[in-house]
Amino acid sequence: MRESVTAHIALGANLGDPVVSVLKAMDDIAAIDGITPLKRSSLYRSAPLASSGPDYINAVVEVSTRLSAPALLSALQQIEQQAGRERPYPNAPRTLDLDLLIYGNASIDSTALVVPHPRMLERAFVLLPLFEIAPQCVAAAQLQAVQSQAIARIG
Ligand code: AMP
Repeated sequence: MRESVTAHIALGANLGDPVVSVLKAMDDIAAIDGITPLKRSSLYRSAPLASSGPDYINAVVEVSTRLSAPALLSALQQIEQQAGRERPYPNAPRTLDLDLLIYGNASIDSTALVVPHPRMLERAFVLLPLFEIAPQCVAAAQLQAVQSQAIARIG
């Protein structure tokens, strides 16, 4: 059987009731077969970045999983779809966005999946919640680089 890998997943939502969407998605991720939930960050509120609409609610979770990275991504995409996500155009406002940030120490660069997530270092709404639950994954200089972005921890 495949060994367990520690993975980090970013959650974001800015349509409907985004707090409810993110909390429900945390429960849905914890319920995926082959996943053991380990940690949940606080919720954060951030202004849209390269997107539009209301503020986002963001969080990061840490899980242990025996799923392969593509199987994990596929399970996350099913949860997005159940949340009613549509993709009318790139970076459109969304009911739920789930990104696989880190999958153990794997480097993956396929058409469907790039890990570590290529844009995670540009985003305070990823780095702050990730730092809260996995400080070893974020360097001080990386936090410093996104400090101008508007984000608030809301508990
Ligand atoms: P988005 O619309 O921003 O959620 O992007 C979804 C697309 O990004 C999908 O086609 C995924 O296959 C692709 N993708 C590539 N790498 C990742 C990743 N690490 N996490 C989530 N989606 C990814």
